[in-house]
Amino acid sequence: MSTIDDFVFKGIPTRVLFGTGTLSRARDEVEKLGGRAALVLSTAHQSAEADRLVSDLGELAAGRFSEAAMHTPTDVTAKALEIAKSTGADCVVSIGGGSTIGLGKAISIRTGMPHLAIPTTYAGSEMTDILGETENGNKTTRRDPAIRPDTVIYDVSLTLSLPEKLTVSSALNAAAHAVEALYAPDGNPVISQMAAAGLAALHRGLPRIIADSADHEGRRETLYGAWLCATVLGQAAMGLHHKLCHVLGGSFNLPHSETHAILLPHTAGFNAMAAKTALKPASDIFGDPLGGGLWDFAKAAGAPLALADFGFSAADIPRAAEIAGTDRYDNPRAFDTDDIARILTAALHGDRPETF
Ligand code: NAD
Repeated sequence: MSTIDDFVFKGIPTRVLFGTGTLSRARDEVEKLGGRAALVLSTAHQSAEADRLVSDLGELAAGRFSEAAMHTPTDVTAKALEIAKSTGADCVVSIGGGSTIGLGKAISIRTGMPHLAIPTTYAGSEMTDILGETENGNKTTRRDPAIRPDTVIYDVSLTLSLPEKLTVSSALNAAAHAVEALYAPDGNPVISQMAAAGLAALHRGLPRIIADSADHEGRRETLYGAWLCATVLGQAAMGLHHKLCHVLGGSFNLPHSETHAILLPHTAGFNAMAAKTALKPASDIFGDPLGGGLWDFAKAAGAPLALADFGFSAADIPRAAEIAGTDRYDNPRAFDTDDIARILTAALHGDRPETF
């Protein structure tokens, strides 16, 4: 963690528009990027939204590609690149969650085309320089400033259709970025304030959405919180929590946002022992001890709590602990494979985290 006397602020290079109905400004933003022929990207599930956007863009649209998939498979990227070439696209517009934005990043980094991202979940990929891709089942992740989308449009209206389960797990996915940014070795006071404000907005917004999924104020707060959490993810190094999620997603095929939601109370509880001061903004919001407070909040929101519900079993724990324990990376609390096994065991059945 940095102190107020000694830190580096790297700046936030992305242009961000936030509001309700902001999607109508996509055309202007494409023009600002110098785009004359935009390839619109989505998943198959969101092809209707992509079609509407193509229609809004009018003559600035080159076409649509709606086959974005989780973890950015390189064969899907190759197919999209063919479409980009055949349609003469000169920029990409991704509308969707992290899967679609990942495809936009993969095309942009390969072609140099500008990228306008329009997120519809709370996962946060739009604000980062990180790209995870899969080829023949192997996931590789890289960071490069050129991976960052140039412009991001947050439109609260686009989140109204987000199903309740994904709303909850995706919001907790966002919260995990902020919790880890609070103790990041390359953090700074601005990032910490954004992380704390992001957590507070999620804490205010999510219960309103649970009570009424169309509650505009709740949706607005949660998307605003997600933006703040995405921004800190794009600025600070992540620790044990993100590493464990990466292992469970990459090697055990566990779903992205649900895995984040389940593990967060356990990893935060583990790290709170060593980073109590850095995590104070989080425990002020969710409760002290932080692990129990986050678990209570997740449970009340109806979040998934148990890895066992997603096909992970006790027999998987030793291999997961071994993979997660091999790489060294910064984490506020030292850990070994036994610690990881204890965290995973607690998360396996969804027990409320005890003080580790
Ligand atoms: P996702 O993009 O896979 O979306 C899940 C499903 O929900 C899709 O079918 C999608 O079309 C649908 N959906 C999205 N928004 C919707 C809406 N508003 N209404 C209705 N349906 C909607 O899920 P995700 O959790 O956003 O992203 C996960 C992926 O993003 C993973 O591959 C993860 O690795 C990646 N990711 C990358 C970063 C990064 O910085 N590189 C950050 C976060 C996540």
